Amino acid sequence: MRDFISILDFSRSELESIFEEADRMREINCSDILEGRIMALAFFEPSTRARLGFSAAMFKLGGGVIELGGPEKSAMSRGENFSDTIKVLDGIADVIVIRHGLEGASKLAAQIAESPVINAGDGSREYPVQGILDLYAIKSFLGRIDGLHIGIIGDLRYGRSVRSFILGLTRFLPAKLYLMSPESLKIKEDIREALNISRIDFEEISWLEEVISELDVLYVTRLQKERFPDISEYEKLKGTYRIEKSLLKEAKERMIILHPLPRTDELSPEVDETPHAKYFKQAALYVPVAMAILRAAML
Ligand code: ASP
Repeated sequence: MRDFISILDFSRSELESIFEEADRMREINCSDILEGRIMALAFFEPSTRARLGFSAAMFKLGGGVIELGGPEKSAMSRGENFSDTIKVLDGIADVIVIRHGLEGASKLAAQIAESPVINAGDGSREYPVQGILDLYAIKSFLGRIDGLHIGIIGDLRYGRSVRSFILGLTRFLPAKLYLMSPESLKIKEDIREALNISRIDFEEISWLEEVISELDVLYVTRLQKERFPDISEYEKLKGTYRIEKSLLKEAKERMIILHPLPRTDELSPEVDETPHAKYFKQAALYVPVAMAILRAAML
């Protein structure tokens, strides 16, 4: 049994075994691997993919799903604290998938619970499930992660998905990362350090046009509106970057565009018609990846 708190808790070979397991899970529609086991969803923030992706994964593995629900539904509305709530869930469920607005919430839950805890996003810190899914998507679409030129554009400061993705890339050998964001949303020092320690070649760029023809992968993320300490700062930065179809004229034929979703204004819907757009296929891979993660966490 194993917690999934940070993508850095996993070595390259462990990540590769999860990818292999996800490949196998794509063939499975219905199994009894987790029959009689219960997954609790403890979501303190809204979610589409994580909530539904994990539920679908558990159903396919033969297990059951229970949901804590919003604060108005649980005893938290009567003053029950986080730690007691987790203890109660731990007594009922065999695995806890948690999403919380506070950094470190999943780590705390893992310290409290005996059952494995899976971090489906804690504030702007990490979302290892998404990071593993992003790496797996690249592997599935392009056959490898090593040797690729990867452009990453968006809110690199507050985006937990993109943080887990970049940290996950340090387990591999990409040829070069190009990082582009508004000045105030550049990668934080810990990510810079992780890239340097792993000797990943990276460059912070101001114009995507200069490198688009080199890229094998373009990873796009939205501004994390809900994380800005000052909403006027968000309003100022809104619309400062947007991927349009015209930008892709110079792109390699096989270049893929990924996005953890939801999309707001940073990616024109016109791009959806291009063969580069892989983000909805990427989202569909959530289920086999969640199945592989549940297996790794629980068996
Ligand atoms: N769905 C992802 C997350 O929860 C990405 C995003 O919200 O931008 O982190």
